[in-house]
Amino acid sequence: MSQPYQANPLSENFPLPRELRKLGRKELKITWQDGHLSVYGFRYLRTQCQCAFCVEEITGRKLLVDSCLPEVLEGMGVSVVGQYALRIDFSDGHNSGIYAYKHLRKACPCELCRPAK
Ligand SMILES: [Zn+2]
Ligand SMILES: [Zn+2]
Repeated sequence: MSQPYQANPLSENFPLPRELRKLGRKELKITWQDGHLSVYGFRYLRTQCQCAFCVEEITGRKLLVDSCLPEVLEGMGVSVVGQYALRIDFSDGHNSGIYAYKHLRKACPCELCRPAK
């Protein structure tokens, strides 16, 4: 914990998970190849969905209204898509979102990736 996270340019461009682990239905834990650890709540991941229903493709404008999502949103299943992404089945029936590892890494909610401003 005392060691500050050093951004590695290579792994920032091509971050790959070393280990994926579902912590019950509430959270997804990813250990990255550079040793960084990310724990995402599934509800948070749902708000990060980049599919055509949730984000307008041309403008990148977010269509999904976070507050319209159910309070309790769980992850029913996680599957790997090719070499670069995950697909998540959510308890609200949404499963069209592809979560690129690159995007997931950027969306990491930990204190090192999201320093308080
Ligand atoms: Zn979506
Ligand atoms: Zn992080």
